[in-house]
Amino acid sequence: MTGVVEPKPPSVRTALVTGGAGFIGSHLVDRLLSEGWRVVAVDNFDPYYPEDAKRRNVSRQVGRPGYSLLEIDVCDLPALREAIGGRLDAIVHLAARPGVRASLEDPLATERINVRGTASVLELAREREVPHFVFGSSSSVYGVNPAVPWREADDVLMPISPYAASKVSGEMLGHVYSHLFGMRFVALRFFTVYGPRQRPDLAIHKFAHKMLRGEPITIFGDGHTRRDYTYVGDIVSGVRAALDYDRERYTIMNLGCGRAISLADMVEALETVMGRQAAVERTGEQPGDVPQTWADISRARAELGYEPRTSLVEGMAAFRDWLLTEGASR
Ligand code: NAD
Repeated sequence: MTGVVEPKPPSVRTALVTGGAGFIGSHLVDRLLSEGWRVVAVDNFDPYYPEDAKRRNVSRQVGRPGYSLLEIDVCDLPALREAIGGRLDAIVHLAARPGVRASLEDPLATERINVRGTASVLELAREREVPHFVFGSSSSVYGVNPAVPWREADDVLMPISPYAASKVSGEMLGHVYSHLFGMRFVALRFFTVYGPRQRPDLAIHKFAHKMLRGEPITIFGDGHTRRDYTYVGDIVSGVRAALDYDRERYTIMNLGCGRAISLADMVEALETVMGRQAAVERTGEQPGDVPQTWADISRARAELGYEPRTSLVEGMAAFRDWLLTEGASR
């Protein structure tokens, strides 16, 4: 028989994205919707930073076909059970109390949201037989391990904040669930993510905002701390690739840029992009802040085809453009 065989349309996949109104979550939802996924976003608009910012993150998503938003606390398993029906192909669990300093101020809130919340979403995954779970972990789990760049195979985790410990717990809970119940669990350790919609408590956003107002920026320590800054679009590409990952039942991968930039160099790059000088005030080191973060990204490269493509200056320029338009009234 001759003739053209029409390719079958790929079946529509459904993802539950917790923390879907947040910085990284809302970008991921944009990507999934643009690829034709159905998305169930769960977010309780936690007041850690202004709700209004999160409402804006989802403003172009609400009403789009295939998108639904559930305003539920991830710790409330009965509410999740009741609200979420139908088949889920994957869960991306990003809901959390982020931030090292917040975890020092209220360690029990961090523990509740990040550990109990993760346990609750894993339980939902088990009950619904969701085969694939992607967990938003953090570079902070490596803590003060001096052997940089950090590799996932390093078994030396030296967390120094309740936040970091909560992310270690999340990874461990994932190991338990993947072992007992056979779901695939991919923990992605994100390294300092920045870009449009960045959380207002993070340095680039905080500094840029102050520079625009002519206010001094506060630098903790002597400016020698180093961070591996990663553009949000690159992170989202890594998360997206992790949704297709089908090798190990349980795995951990670094998603970073693969280079460490000093705080002083970051401020200089930001000054260039913003076109103005920062007035700098110095203060002592922050407890819980690690001296450096630096990802070895060879595993994510090999296993996910992950490749960070955005330079710091390009990414900061995208952030600046957003800040001067949509982010301006925040
Ligand atoms: P974010 O605060 O912008 O997003 C988290 C979202 O989770 C928020 O919208 C918040 O309202 C929601 N949330 C909080 N508690 C909740 C609860 N109990 N129930 C339901 N929703 C809840 O933060 P982000 O920067 O987008 O971070 C996303 C994830 O990535 C977090 O797990 C964070 O720990 C992790 N992470 C982020 C970075 C970074 O640099 N941004 C680095 C490492 C890891």
